[in-house]
Amino acid sequence: MATWDPEFEVVIGLEIHAQLATETKIFCGCPAKAPEGKNVSEVDSNWNTCPVCAGHPGTLPKLNARVLEYATKAGLAMGCQIRENSVFSRKNYFYPDLPKGYQISQFDKPICENGTIEIDVGKDKKTVRVQRIHMEEDAGKNLHMDDFSLVNLNRACVPLIEIVSEPDMRSPEEAGAYMRAVHAIVTTIGVCDGNLQEGNFRCDANVSVMPKGSKTFGTRAEIKNVNSFRFVEKAIEYEISRQIALVKSGGKVVQETRLYDSAQNKTFSMRSKEEAHDYRYFPEPDLIPVKLDKNWIEKIRETLPELPAQKRARFVSELGLSAYDAGVVTSTGSLAKLLEDTLALTSKKGIDAKTAAKSATNLLTGEISRLSKEEEKDVSESKLTAVHLADLVHAITSSLVSSTGAKTALLAAWNGEGTIESIIEKHGLKQVSDTGALEAAIDAVIAENAGQFAEMKSGKDKLLGFFVGQTMKKTGGKANPGLLQELIKKRLS
Ligand code: ADP
Ligand code: MG
Ligand code: ZN
Repeated sequence: MATWDPEFEVVIGLEIHAQLATETKIFCGCPAKAPEGKNVSEVDSNWNTCPVCAGHPGTLPKLNARVLEYATKAGLAMGCQIRENSVFSRKNYFYPDLPKGYQISQFDKPICENGTIEIDVGKDKKTVRVQRIHMEEDAGKNLHMDDFSLVNLNRACVPLIEIVSEPDMRSPEEAGAYMRAVHAIVTTIGVCDGNLQEGNFRCDANVSVMPKGSKTFGTRAEIKNVNSFRFVEKAIEYEISRQIALVKSGGKVVQETRLYDSAQNKTFSMRSKEEAHDYRYFPEPDLIPVKLDKNWIEKIRETLPELPAQKRARFVSELGLSAYDAGVVTSTGSLAKLLEDTLALTSKKGIDAKTAAKSATNLLTGEISRLSKEEEKDVSESKLTAVHLADLVHAITSSLVSSTGAKTALLAAWNGEGTIESIIEKHGLKQVSDTGALEAAIDAVIAENAGQFAEMKSGKDKLLGFFVGQTMKKTGGKANPGLLQELIKKRLS
């Protein structure tokens, strides 16, 4: 938990940019995704452009209908009102990565308004209001070399929604929880791939401080483009201490844009309010206003899947998961789907739902989360499937593999080594549950440690662990530990 001078209160509002997972860009037919899920902007410069997204004069934008559908879906999932008449506007500014000299965005008539998102902070629940969600095009990317710069327009015109919260958060943890909740929603409803490393989910954090109990918010600084849940909390934490120190030393917070440097864990001024752009917004003359039909909106509402908050509650009540575990497995659409697909398969194998859920969740929150973080890969991008996980749960619950063996098998499946059955075979992971083989190993260990065995027999219980360990060693770590213990105990009576 972040702490600061208790004389001060903190106010935070987030603006989140989520890249929509459409096939094509927002105003032209260029792919919005690079081949094999690679980042659109990283693959050979400018392969992914056409006269429209490269901003050639005389070209006209044509709105991608899927963008409307996804933006509406996101708005409905966040409890927003959907505007039946919304308008695209030009946001004018000059920057080399913006070929037209303006960004097509929405201004006074965004597609969604007035939503709410529930967040969990520790044991408390809190509702954060969503002010608006609007549709816009992404810009390109400047690449600065030593004495010149390159412009890559692959990402230009890629569809985004910007989700703007009210200034309702009061701590870095609440901001982190809100960012995670929004991420879980957009990935669960399938409108965003949610890959933070690739920048398809990023946020600007607005932070201000004020004397405790004050009714007027302080002046805010905006930290731009944070693309990690952890860093958003750290950046805000740093910003709180900077602003409080400034105010206490008699200074004033100025409204400005800042950047967070994770290596130094500090924020730096990027531009002040005086340098801020006057965007001269006006309605985009090349696009007609968007008119949505009530029935169409209701049809989209019917396509909404179960949302993360509902799923979390159901996993706790139906599957007996802890609130924490349920939170982790519903934190992205792909994790929850993997769990649910796995349980459908384990149920066919006759494994009790709660047992299977517990076993699968252990793997999901443990080894799978670890691999996912380490390789910066979403589970859906790995080779691991629900079939693997169900087979592995079966192997674990029937004591075919030990927990260590399960980890090895999981890693192999993640890397695409084949079926669980073949992996267990190939890596020799089968636990020895064959009583005869174990008895023989126990005999050998007793013969080698006759003295200790006699001591144990005369009441030195502590030696049981020693004998289990020695026999385990003899079997190359493959003995079923439960059975082994049972067999050794039998020798004592
Ligand atoms: P702009 O259009 O300049 O970005 P907005 O008023 O739309 O400004 O607010 C942008 C974001 O800043 C919103 O998420 C809002 O919640 C947040 N915000 C506004 N005022 C404050 C404040 N005093 N402290 C912290 N956040 C704020
Ligand atoms: Mg802003
Ligand atoms: Zn194009």
